[in-house]
Amino acid sequence: MHVRRRILLVVSAGAVLFALGFLPSHRLAQQKREQKKCLQYLLQVNEVLNCCVPLEKKMKPGDPIAPNDVLDFMKDRVLPRCPSGCKYLVPYVAGGRPVCPRHGDLLREVAQVNVFGSQAIYLKRSPGE
Ligand SMILES: [Zn+2]
Repeated sequence: MHVRRRILLVVSAGAVLFALGFLPSHRLAQQKREQKKCLQYLLQVNEVLNCCVPLEKKMKPGDPIAPNDVLDFMKDRVLPRCPSGCKYLVPYVAGGRPVCPRHGDLLREVAQVNVFGSQAIYLKRSPGE
């Protein structure tokens, strides 16, 4: 084998090894950022279900909330979406806890802000889904 060809082989093998090591960690960092953003959005929705609307309407836990009342508290009246593009599963009740279909029940691990002083109500799916 020619020396030059051997050098080329070593260099390209190095590039492949570099790419194999680099890509997964890059993707992992991207997934972490996505999940962090997702959690921020879930917290926004959660706060509206657990504080804003129930306080304004003097609700008890489990009282139904109109989706429009949630949108009143959202920027540009748009419900945030997961950065992955998923639509959140939102239980439209006072004390409800939104869930991301892709990232799951991220709020379970987070200290709950709740005007009721109780555990948030966890519904797997919003009514009609
Ligand atoms: Zn998500």
